[in-house]
Amino acid sequence: MHIAVIGSCNVDITVEAQRRPHAGETVMGDRLIVSPGGKGANQAVAAARLGAEVYMVGCIGDDDYGRIITDSLKESHVHTDYVFTRKGTTTGTAHITLAEGDNSIIVIKGANAEVGPEEVDRAWDMISTAEIVLLQYEIPMETIDYVVKKCAEAGVKVLLNPAPFADTPEEWMEKASYITPNEHEAKLMFPGMSRSEILSAHPDKLIMTIGGDGVAFAHEGEGEVVVPGFKVPVKDTTGAGDTFNGAFAVARAEKQPMKDAVRFANAAAALSVQKIGAQGGMPWRSEVEEMLS
Ligand code: ATP
Repeated sequence: MHIAVIGSCNVDITVEAQRRPHAGETVMGDRLIVSPGGKGANQAVAAARLGAEVYMVGCIGDDDYGRIITDSLKESHVHTDYVFTRKGTTTGTAHITLAEGDNSIIVIKGANAEVGPEEVDRAWDMISTAEIVLLQYEIPMETIDYVVKKCAEAGVKVLLNPAPFADTPEEWMEKASYITPNEHEAKLMFPGMSRSEILSAHPDKLIMTIGGDGVAFAHEGEGEVVVPGFKVPVKDTTGAGDTFNGAFAVARAEKQPMKDAVRFANAAAALSVQKIGAQGGMPWRSEVEEMLS
């Protein structure tokens, strides 16, 4: 039994400073933090730490950032056989300035823009036998379209995490087994519709994360269900959504019933918000089991 994640690999380069520079100005900063990220790699790490066999499909540049990514994937036991190194391009990076209580970010897609149908085909033997395939919107939309259609034809389940927000074609919603927007993304996806209208139109498929409140979805025959989040002291919510997605995929791959799977993923995500960093805060299986016991 294995899980495939087809998505982005980034390195987040964060600078902390008292204030951000004006155009043409130089200021001294306080601290530099370099950490692996990208929604694809984050979800792969989350799932692998919870005990699943996970294969990452993505692209990195032939640079030190690429090595930071493969090292961190391997440390969490993610298989990197299908993380392809692209010469002549850089690894995806997010350049974050933390100043004056707010962040500003510039993202360079780099090698993430090169995750295409060819890479999917090279990994197809693995993808076609996966229990579930995870997708997010940080790789080209044409690739998402290719995977969604190919998986539907082959009868492979797809979890579509529509983040960061972009238009989601109706056909993807029909073909995906799960769609996991946060509340903000769901509102943008279904303008003018109320929460219960959105959920009841996609029972047991549209799983809406609602931050500390947990998760809402419509359960066949039961209507709207809210599985409450765990009350915990919050340090950093970066990567909470990615942890939720990775964990939910693991639980469903293990055939846990819907409500149990959501509770399992809420627990994993609640553990992640208690630590700093996206991947750094992601829990291992034993920690989640302890929380649920
Ligand atoms: P992020 O962008 O911060 O990674 P998101 O916006 O994609 O997250 P959220 O709905 O904010 O998604 O959170 C995802 C899940 O993480 C929630 O469904 C919940 O299980 C957990 N979570 C988020 N915030 C908290 C919190 N303050 N306390 C406990 N659990 C939380």
